[in-house]
Amino acid sequence: ISICGGTGCLALGAGKLGELFIAELAAQGLSDSIDIRHTGCHGFCEKGTVVVIHPSDVCYLQVQPTDVPEVVAAVKSGNIVERLLFTDPATGEKIAKQSDIPFYRYQYRLVLGDNQRIDPKNIEDYLAVGGYKALSKVVSGMTPDQVLSEVEQAQLRGRGGAGFPAGKKWFTTKNAPGEPKYVIVNCDEGDPGAFMDRSVMEGNPHCVLEGLMIGAYAIGSHEGYVYVRAEYPLAVTNLFRAIAQAEEYGLLGKNILGSGFDFTVKVHQGAGAFVSGESSALMTAIEGRVGEPRPKYIRTAVRGLWNKPSNLNNVETWANVPQIINRGAEWFKSIGTSGSSGTKIFALVGKVNNTGLVEVPMGTTLKDIVFKIGGGVRDGKKLKAVQTGGPSGGCIPVEYMDTPVDFDELDKLGSMVGSGGMIVLDEETCMVDLAKYFLTFLADESCGKCLPCREGLKQMIDIVTRITRGEAEMEELDTLEELAETLKDACLCALGQTAANPLLTTLRYFRPEYETHIRDKK
Ligand code: SF4
Repeated sequence: ISICGGTGCLALGAGKLGELFIAELAAQGLSDSIDIRHTGCHGFCEKGTVVVIHPSDVCYLQVQPTDVPEVVAAVKSGNIVERLLFTDPATGEKIAKQSDIPFYRYQYRLVLGDNQRIDPKNIEDYLAVGGYKALSKVVSGMTPDQVLSEVEQAQLRGRGGAGFPAGKKWFTTKNAPGEPKYVIVNCDEGDPGAFMDRSVMEGNPHCVLEGLMIGAYAIGSHEGYVYVRAEYPLAVTNLFRAIAQAEEYGLLGKNILGSGFDFTVKVHQGAGAFVSGESSALMTAIEGRVGEPRPKYIRTAVRGLWNKPSNLNNVETWANVPQIINRGAEWFKSIGTSGSSGTKIFALVGKVNNTGLVEVPMGTTLKDIVFKIGGGVRDGKKLKAVQTGGPSGGCIPVEYMDTPVDFDELDKLGSMVGSGGMIVLDEETCMVDLAKYFLTFLADESCGKCLPCREGLKQMIDIVTRITRGEAEMEELDTLEELAETLKDACLCALGQTAANPLLTTLRYFRPEYETHIRDKK
């Protein structure tokens, strides 16, 4: 019996539920024949706490403590507790198997799949699903160049923001002058509504560590860091435990698996500044200084942590690496689109029926994500737009819902995949308010180091606020666009350079809303 132990379900009482299941199994004489797995996040956060019975794949949703005796009795007798099953809103029929529930059926859970099968507290669980096989394959039978070439051929693009090719970045660090070289995991996810990296780190920390070690081997690094925000306490706890277990099993430290390859990893807990997710700011923070970006005339891949070559990728990027090694570049490339291979995890939130974590092949349309997986808009309202890419992304109006989601297609619409935030907006959403929300978030998170970002955002918020109050003039829309262009051109880091994206896309696609607010005063 697998019980979702992600932060969302734990907040709903999944921890207590686990204890009740253990007690009930004992009471019904089943302790020896049925195991309880407290796993990572199953993804269907809207319906937590999620409980799945294996091997039958029967999935119970919104399980409460009072349901436990009935569920255990049903498992014992081979029956099903109908009232806890998913109800198909179209037909009213109950769906028993998890893999048949539309929320799961249309996904491809390449990275998230093991999240609901293994207990992240137990390395044996990870080993049982083939964990550390890729590391073993690499250190015992592949040269660093072969590993790098496999990742390059897979065309894995970074899942943390701009989608830069991971293999190319690894190559740059490998060939940059200077020793030691560092490899770093970015788990500073801070977009409002996003929890992809948190859930992978909570539910399957070993796959991130394994990917990191494979990258280190390819690059020629013997020292790594995981930068994880302290507001993710479960991720932090599970990560520390995973590191200790990997060391105990000879998978981390000196002479890994007898190969002669040495690698150690340290954890740095961030204090929650959004800007510290930017590569140079993150590295500055690890060095013990204030986490502010610096000019990147020389990339961090060449001169990063302590001015040494440093390769930074986010959690999801590293988590893909073991699978590429195990199953090959060609297999990975067969998933997704020609320019964006593999899958992408999105945090599907907002005015959608099925909020949760969703992993789909690149190229899946926005419509399929929102309607097939997300179950459509809440309360029967109409879809207005989807905000992708968090505060650095943009708003995509309903007319573009047939757009395949990949790095290049979203870019064409003025938005981005980003790290994977996806906020569904219904017909009642005010797009001016939305733009104001993201501008305010970024102004709060700006480090204030450079003037265009520090002062430009303030000016933009002032204008947008006056628009919402009906106090602005029509010409100020042009001023907003000018300011937005200035930020793009003149800001030091990506926070400022992309800060105007939500404003620009809402102006591009919903300009009449701005104009109506302004006209209404007159
Ligand atoms: Fe700081 Fe903003 Fe300048 Fe980035 S763009 S360095 S966040 S002030």
